[in-house]
Amino acid sequence: ELFLRPDLVACTFSGSVAISVAVSAPTRFLVLNALDLSVNRTSIRFQALEPTEVVFFKDDGVLVLGFAKQLPLGEGLLKMDFNGILNDQMRGFYRSKYQYKGKERNMAVTQFESVDARRCFPCWDEPAFKAKFKLTLEVPSELVALSNMPVGNATFAGPIKTVRYLESPPMSTYLVAIVVGLFEYVEGMTTKGTRVRVYTQIGKSNQGKFALDVGVKSLNLYKDYFDTPFPLPKLDMVAIPDFAAGAMENYGLVTYREVALLFDDKSSSASSRQSVAITVAHELAHQWFGNLVTMEWWTHLWLNEGFATWMSHLAVDSFFPQWNIWAQFLDRTTTALRLDSLEASHPIEVEIHHASEVDQIFDAISYDKGASVIRMLQSYLGAERFQKAMASYMKKYAYSNAKTEDLWAVLEK
Ligand SMILES: [Zn+2]
Repeated sequence: ELFLRPDLVACTFSGSVAISVAVSAPTRFLVLNALDLSVNRTSIRFQALEPTEVVFFKDDGVLVLGFAKQLPLGEGLLKMDFNGILNDQMRGFYRSKYQYKGKERNMAVTQFESVDARRCFPCWDEPAFKAKFKLTLEVPSELVALSNMPVGNATFAGPIKTVRYLESPPMSTYLVAIVVGLFEYVEGMTTKGTRVRVYTQIGKSNQGKFALDVGVKSLNLYKDYFDTPFPLPKLDMVAIPDFAAGAMENYGLVTYREVALLFDDKSSSASSRQSVAITVAHELAHQWFGNLVTMEWWTHLWLNEGFATWMSHLAVDSFFPQWNIWAQFLDRTTTALRLDSLEASHPIEVEIHHASEVDQIFDAISYDKGASVIRMLQSYLGAERFQKAMASYMKKYAYSNAKTEDLWAVLEK
């Protein structure tokens, strides 16, 4: 359970967590991820126990809680309160600026992949630690407050509202997301009744219609391709004015740079129409490949990114066959070969030993070489056989994690 209270004027936030932890072996330490947070030491409890040592290891983004005696085995509740800064680094819990009625205002946004959830709340943000998340936000009443799951209930106290979200299915911490700001939206529905919305700045929602159309079609296609329904009740896609990457596939709340989501019939180019379609199809492929079945560790990042890149072309080719998108895919293969020809190249699968190494492998080798290899695999095995294997992979590892070897085993079978 995570509670957060962002202050959009002071650009700070306060919060609390209550984490169910299973102690499986004798120890007197709890070690978790936290960075750039100030934890209120007197608030920390594991069951009724207070830690006697609270030590931050900043270089590792780790918080160590030492207790006087060994912890009781079995499940217990770890609680603590903390404060942080809504930073301007576009990672962790940060502020983006936007204009409304001629005035500059702040919105609060999260960007956690790869290892920045620890900048928002104490947690375990490695991909293999999946948990059910139950979020509560306290925010200004007039703002839109979005998270991964739909709102369960909201209570108003004058200018402040408390919004409680439904509990998520088991998911990795790096996929938790929050957006608080002023937005309008356009809405659609999949054939199975999943509500899809595109949120934009006030006055721009028309520019979200193309992405909405691609989003609804993508969810329909992937449900059939993987023979697995989209497990969440809704999917929101939001355009964020200040955003570091192109987009981020947070479960049920995908965030985008504005140019990666918005399309204006009158002024946008044909190439921007294609790149919006590819980006939306890529992020929504992650809702299955990445979010439902997650890589075991960052070493297997190519699985997530290579597959989503390949899959986005499969989807866009089926929606817009006239674009001949597989011919354009060869540009990606070329981009991969170019990086691969440098001495500084690396294998598709890279050993990752420390959190600080992860961000370096979000490159053309993981995305484009990965996607090229998957395309070769698919044509070697045949489209139908490959699809059947992917559907059984999804079912076998749903709500859990998989390694490259697990994919090979399923394909071989
Ligand atoms: Zn991706």
